[in-house]
Amino acid sequence: MDTGLKGKVALVAAASKGLGRAVAEGLAAEGASLAICARGESDLASTREAIERTATAPVHAVAGDLSRPEGIETVVRSTLERFGRVDVLVTNAGGPPVGMFEAHDWNAWQRAVELTLRSAVELTRAVLPGMRERKWGRVLHITSLTVNQPIDGLMLSTSIRSALTGFSRTLANEVAGEGITVNTILPGFMNTERVVELNQAELAALAVFLASERASYITGQSIAVDGGWIRALL
Ligand code: NAD
Repeated sequence: MDTGLKGKVALVAAASKGLGRAVAEGLAAEGASLAICARGESDLASTREAIERTATAPVHAVAGDLSRPEGIETVVRSTLERFGRVDVLVTNAGGPPVGMFEAHDWNAWQRAVELTLRSAVELTRAVLPGMRERKWGRVLHITSLTVNQPIDGLMLSTSIRSALTGFSRTLANEVAGEGITVNTILPGFMNTERVVELNQAELAALAVFLASERASYITGQSIAVDGGWIRALL
Protein backbone atom coordinates (compact mmCIF):
# COMPACT_ATOMS: atom_id res chain seq x y z
CA MET A 1 0.00 0.00 0.00
CA ASP A 2 1.34 3.42 -0.89
CA THR A 3 0.77 5.47 2.25
CA GLY A 4 1.72 8.73 0.52
CA LEU A 5 3.91 9.60 3.49
CA LYS A 6 7.13 9.87 1.50
CA GLY A 7 8.15 13.52 1.56
CA LYS A 8 5.83 14.39 4.42
CA VAL A 9 7.16 15.74 7.72
CA ALA A 10 6.05 14.06 10.96
CA LEU A 11 6.53 15.34 14.50
CA VAL A 12 6.16 12.59 17.10
CA ALA A 13 6.09 13.74 20.71
CA ALA A 14 7.58 11.71 23.58
CA ALA A 15 9.27 9.32 21.20
CA SER A 16 12.54 8.26 22.86
CA LYS A 17 10.91 4.94 23.79
CA GLY A 18 7.66 3.01 24.02
CA LEU A 19 4.66 3.82 21.86
CA GLY A 20 5.99 7.15 20.60
CA ARG A 21 9.16 5.49 19.37
CA ALA A 22 7.19 2.69 17.70
CA VAL A 23 5.03 5.23 15.84
CA ALA A 24 8.13 7.23 14.86
CA GLU A 25 9.77 4.10 13.47
CA GLY A 26 6.61 3.28 11.51
CA LEU A 27 6.41 6.73 9.94
CA ALA A 28 10.14 6.75 9.14
CA ALA A 29 9.76 3.36 7.44
CA GLU A 30 7.19 4.98 5.12
CA GLY A 31 9.69 7.66 4.08
CA ALA A 32 8.45 10.55 6.21
CA SER A 33 11.00 13.04 7.51
CA LEU A 34 10.87 12.79 11.25
CA ALA A 35 11.17 15.05 14.27
CA ILE A 36 11.14 13.31 17.65
CA CYS A 37 11.25 14.78 21.11
CA ALA A 38 11.51 13.72 24.76
CA ARG A 39 13.01 15.19 27.91
CA GLY A 40 16.27 13.25 28.16
CA GLU A 41 18.92 13.98 25.52
CA SER A 42 20.84 10.70 25.74
CA ASP A 43 17.89 8.31 25.22
CA LEU A 44 16.63 10.58 22.47
CA ALA A 45 20.00 10.65 20.70
CA SER A 46 20.30 6.85 20.74
CA THR A 47 16.73 6.51 19.43
CA ARG A 48 17.51 8.97 16.62
CA GLU A 49 20.65 7.04 15.70
CA ALA A 50 18.74 3.74 15.70
CA ILE A 51 15.96 5.09 13.45
CA GLU A 52 18.48 6.80 11.15
CA ARG A 53 20.15 3.47 10.41
CA THR A 54 17.20 2.36 8.29
CA ALA A 55 15.39 5.62 7.49
CA THR A 56 15.52 7.05 3.98
CA ALA A 57 14.58 10.58 5.12
CA PRO A 58 16.18 12.78 7.79
CA VAL A 59 15.53 12.25 11.50
CA HIS A 60 15.73 15.28 13.79
CA ALA A 61 15.77 15.01 17.60
CA VAL A 62 15.04 17.84 20.00
CA ALA A 63 14.97 17.64 23.79
CA GLY A 64 12.13 19.43 25.54
CA ASP A 65 9.82 19.00 28.52
CA LEU A 66 6.30 18.91 27.08
CA SER A 67 4.75 19.72 30.45
CA ARG A 68 6.22 23.24 30.18
CA PRO A 69 5.29 25.92 27.62
CA GLU A 70 8.96 26.67 26.89
CA GLY A 71 9.56 22.96 26.22
CA ILE A 72 6.74 22.86 23.68
CA GLU A 73 8.01 26.07 22.07
CA THR A 74 11.54 24.65 21.77
CA VAL A 75 10.28 21.46 20.14
CA VAL A 76 8.11 23.30 17.62
CA ARG A 77 10.71 25.98 16.80
CA SER A 78 13.48 23.46 16.29
CA THR A 79 11.28 21.24 14.10
CA LEU A 80 10.15 24.15 11.93
CA GLU A 81 13.74 25.44 11.62
CA ARG A 82 14.83 21.99 10.44
CA PHE A 83 11.95 21.09 8.14
CA GLY A 84 9.85 24.22 7.62
CA ARG A 85 6.56 22.48 8.27
CA VAL A 86 4.74 19.64 10.02
CA ASP A 87 2.28 17.49 8.04
CA VAL A 88 1.70 14.75 10.62
CA LEU A 89 1.52 15.51 14.33
CA VAL A 90 1.44 12.69 16.87
CA THR A 91 0.91 13.94 20.43
CA ASN A 92 2.00 11.77 23.33
CA ALA A 93 3.61 12.14 26.75
CA GLY A 94 4.35 10.08 29.83
CA GLY A 95 1.26 9.04 31.78
CA PRO A 96 0.07 11.18 34.72
CA PRO A 97 0.50 9.78 38.26
CA VAL A 98 -1.64 6.85 39.38
CA GLY A 99 -4.05 7.25 42.33
CA MET A 100 -7.68 7.47 43.39
CA PHE A 101 -9.55 10.75 43.85
CA GLU A 102 -8.25 11.61 47.31
CA ALA A 103 -4.62 11.01 46.34
CA HIS A 104 -4.41 14.15 44.21
CA ASP A 105 -4.86 17.76 45.25
CA TRP A 106 -5.58 20.44 42.67
CA ASN A 107 -1.87 21.06 42.09
CA ALA A 108 -1.51 17.47 40.95
CA TRP A 109 -4.50 17.90 38.62
CA GLN A 110 -2.93 21.07 37.26
CA ARG A 111 0.39 19.33 36.54
CA ALA A 112 -1.43 16.45 34.87
CA VAL A 113 -3.46 18.87 32.74
CA GLU A 114 -0.24 20.57 31.67
CA LEU A 115 1.43 17.29 30.73
CA THR A 116 -1.45 15.47 29.10
CA LEU A 117 -3.88 18.09 27.80
CA ARG A 118 -1.96 21.32 27.31
CA SER A 119 0.93 19.60 25.51
CA ALA A 120 -1.50 18.11 22.98
CA VAL A 121 -3.53 21.32 22.58
CA GLU A 122 -0.51 23.58 22.22
CA LEU A 123 1.40 21.31 19.83
CA THR A 124 -1.76 21.22 17.72
CA ARG A 125 -2.13 25.00 17.93
CA ALA A 126 1.44 25.43 16.68
CA VAL A 127 1.17 23.23 13.59
CA LEU A 128 -2.48 23.60 12.54
CA PRO A 129 -2.14 26.95 10.70
CA GLY A 130 0.45 25.42 8.35
CA MET A 131 -1.73 22.37 7.74
CA ARG A 132 -4.64 24.68 6.94
CA GLU A 133 -2.54 26.68 4.47
CA ARG A 134 -1.42 23.52 2.70
CA LYS A 135 -4.88 21.91 2.93
CA TRP A 136 -3.40 18.67 4.28
CA GLY A 137 -2.71 17.41 7.76
CA ARG A 138 -2.95 14.47 10.12
CA VAL A 139 -3.29 14.94 13.86
CA LEU A 140 -3.13 11.85 16.07
CA HIS A 141 -3.44 11.92 19.83
CA ILE A 142 -2.30 8.89 21.82
CA THR A 143 -4.67 8.57 24.80
CA SER A 144 -5.66 5.40 26.67
CA LEU A 145 -8.33 2.70 26.79
CA THR A 146 -9.43 4.23 30.11
CA VAL A 147 -11.30 6.82 28.05
CA ASN A 148 -13.69 4.06 26.96
CA GLN A 149 -13.64 2.06 30.16
CA PRO A 150 -12.27 3.72 33.32
CA ILE A 151 -9.87 1.71 35.46
CA ASP A 152 -9.73 2.13 39.24
CA GLY A 153 -6.80 4.24 40.34
CA LEU A 154 -6.38 6.08 37.07
CA MET A 155 -8.39 9.17 38.04
CA LEU A 156 -6.09 11.74 36.43
CA SER A 157 -5.43 9.76 33.28
CA THR A 158 -9.11 8.99 32.66
CA SER A 159 -10.42 12.47 33.42
CA ILE A 160 -7.85 14.45 31.50
CA ARG A 161 -7.60 12.12 28.51
CA SER A 162 -11.41 12.36 28.25
CA ALA A 163 -11.04 16.12 27.89
CA LEU A 164 -8.39 15.52 25.24
CA THR A 165 -10.80 13.20 23.42
CA GLY A 166 -13.44 15.94 23.48
CA PHE A 167 -10.92 18.42 22.09
CA SER A 168 -9.90 15.99 19.37
CA ARG A 169 -13.46 15.14 18.31
CA THR A 170 -14.51 18.79 18.25
CA LEU A 171 -11.45 19.89 16.31
CA ALA A 172 -12.03 17.11 13.78
CA ASN A 173 -15.30 18.81 12.82
CA GLU A 174 -13.72 22.27 12.66
CA VAL A 175 -11.07 21.22 10.14
CA ALA A 176 -12.87 18.45 8.27
CA GLY A 177 -13.30 20.55 5.13
CA GLU A 178 -9.62 21.45 4.94
CA GLY A 179 -7.98 18.10 4.25
CA ILE A 180 -7.04 17.61 7.89
CA THR A 181 -8.03 14.59 9.95
CA VAL A 182 -7.90 14.39 13.75
CA ASN A 183 -8.11 11.05 15.55
CA THR A 184 -7.16 9.46 18.83
CA ILE A 185 -5.51 6.09 19.37
CA LEU A 186 -6.27 4.24 22.61
CA PRO A 187 -3.50 1.90 23.68
CA GLY A 188 -4.42 -1.15 25.73
CA PHE A 189 -2.30 -2.88 28.35
CA MET A 190 1.08 -4.12 27.30
CA ASN A 191 2.49 -6.45 29.95
CA THR A 192 5.00 -9.05 28.83
CA GLU A 193 7.86 -8.17 26.52
CA ARG A 194 6.30 -10.17 23.68
CA VAL A 195 2.90 -8.51 24.08
CA VAL A 196 4.57 -5.13 24.33
CA GLU A 197 6.39 -5.69 21.07
CA LEU A 198 3.32 -6.97 19.20
CA ASN A 199 1.01 -4.28 20.52
CA GLN A 200 3.47 -1.50 19.82
CA ALA A 201 3.82 -2.76 16.25
CA GLU A 202 0.03 -2.88 15.83
CA LEU A 203 -0.42 0.56 17.32
CA ALA A 204 2.31 1.95 15.05
CA ALA A 205 0.69 0.32 12.01
CA LEU A 206 -2.63 1.98 12.89
CA ALA A 207 -0.90 5.35 13.33
CA VAL A 208 0.84 5.02 9.96
CA PHE A 209 -2.45 4.13 8.27
CA LEU A 210 -4.32 7.04 9.88
CA ALA A 211 -1.49 9.34 8.80
CA SER A 212 -1.61 8.06 5.23
CA GLU A 213 -3.35 9.42 2.13
CA ARG A 214 -5.61 6.35 2.23
CA ALA A 215 -7.21 7.47 5.50
CA SER A 216 -8.49 10.81 4.22
CA TYR A 217 -12.13 9.96 5.12
CA ILE A 218 -11.42 8.74 8.65
CA THR A 219 -11.64 11.57 11.16
CA GLY A 220 -13.03 12.25 14.61
CA GLN A 221 -12.53 8.62 15.62
CA SER A 222 -11.14 7.04 18.78
CA ILE A 223 -9.67 3.65 17.95
CA ALA A 224 -8.51 1.16 20.59
CA VAL A 225 -5.57 -1.21 20.17
CA ASP A 226 -6.33 -3.40 23.18
CA GLY A 227 -6.82 -7.00 22.09
CA GLY A 228 -10.57 -6.78 22.79
CA TRP A 229 -10.17 -5.63 26.39
CA ILE A 230 -12.91 -2.98 26.14
CA ARG A 231 -16.29 -4.73 26.26
CA ALA A 232 -18.43 -1.83 25.04
CA LEU A 233 -20.54 -2.35 21.90
CA LEU A 234 -19.68 1.04 20.41
P1 NAD B 1 6.89 5.15 28.06
O1 NAD B 1 7.11 5.48 29.49
O2 NAD B 1 7.49 3.89 27.50
O3 NAD B 1 7.39 6.36 27.14
C1 NAD B 1 7.03 7.66 27.46
C2 NAD B 1 7.80 8.64 26.59
O4 NAD B 1 7.39 9.93 26.99
C3 NAD B 1 9.32 8.59 26.78
O5 NAD B 1 9.92 8.82 25.53
C4 NAD B 1 9.57 9.75 27.73
O6 NAD B 1 10.87 10.27 27.59
C5 NAD B 1 8.54 10.73 27.24
N1 NAD B 1 8.12 11.74 28.21
C6 NAD B 1 7.61 11.54 29.44
N2 NAD B 1 7.33 12.72 30.02
C7 NAD B 1 7.69 13.68 29.13
C8 NAD B 1 7.67 15.11 29.16
N3 NAD B 1 7.24 15.79 30.23
N4 NAD B 1 8.11 15.77 28.07
C9 NAD B 1 8.58 15.09 26.99
N5 NAD B 1 8.61 13.76 26.91
C10 NAD B 1 8.19 13.06 27.98
O7 NAD B 1 5.30 5.16 27.87
P2 NAD B 1 4.42 4.37 26.80
O8 NAD B 1 4.12 3.00 27.34
O9 NAD B 1 5.03 4.50 25.45
O10 NAD B 1 3.04 5.19 26.86
C11 NAD B 1 2.86 6.40 26.15
C12 NAD B 1 1.55 7.02 26.62
O11 NAD B 1 0.47 6.12 26.41
C13 NAD B 1 1.57 7.33 28.13
O12 NAD B 1 0.90 8.54 28.38
C14 NAD B 1 0.81 6.18 28.73
O13 NAD B 1 0.19 6.51 29.95
C15 NAD B 1 -0.21 5.90 27.62
N6 NAD B 1 -0.68 4.51 27.70
C16 NAD B 1 0.19 3.48 27.61
C17 NAD B 1 -0.28 2.18 27.73
C18 NAD B 1 0.69 1.01 27.68
O14 NAD B 1 0.28 -0.09 28.02
N7 NAD B 1 1.92 1.22 27.22
C19 NAD B 1 -1.65 1.94 27.94
C20 NAD B 1 -2.52 3.02 28.01
C21 NAD B 1 -2.02 4.30 27.89
